[in-house]
Amino acid sequence: MPTNRTPIDRSPRVPITPRALEAFGHLKRLARKCTCLPYGDPNYERCDACRLWLQWHRVLSHEVRAKIWEFPCVVEPDDDGDGDAGNGSYNPGAFWARRARDRYRVLDAALRAAASG
Ligand SMILES: [Zn+2]
Repeated sequence: MPTNRTPIDRSPRVPITPRALEAFGHLKRLARKCTCLPYGDPNYERCDACRLWLQWHRVLSHEVRAKIWEFPCVVEPDDDGDGDAGNGSYNPGAFWARRARDRYRVLDAALRAAASG
């Protein structure tokens, strides 16, 4: 049976659109460009990179249909297990944190695939 599904949509949990990948790419780049003073500094002011980051985050958030409270909706996994790994107890914070990391992994993999393809 023929199907019109696009191959880029590879996870039912994380809808990956070209726009989502674009936004994610910007977020990754901008995160490294942050020049903000430490939070709490009297001269603290959001830097240009962070302002752009927020705009792209809004785009990404919309594209992946993140919940309104999922902020940030992607979190770079540190991959040495930060306490949420299968201890079985229900922890809403850990649940959403894991979702944000899963999303990051899926988007990152898709971005790499797109870049190398
Ligand atoms: Zn900043």
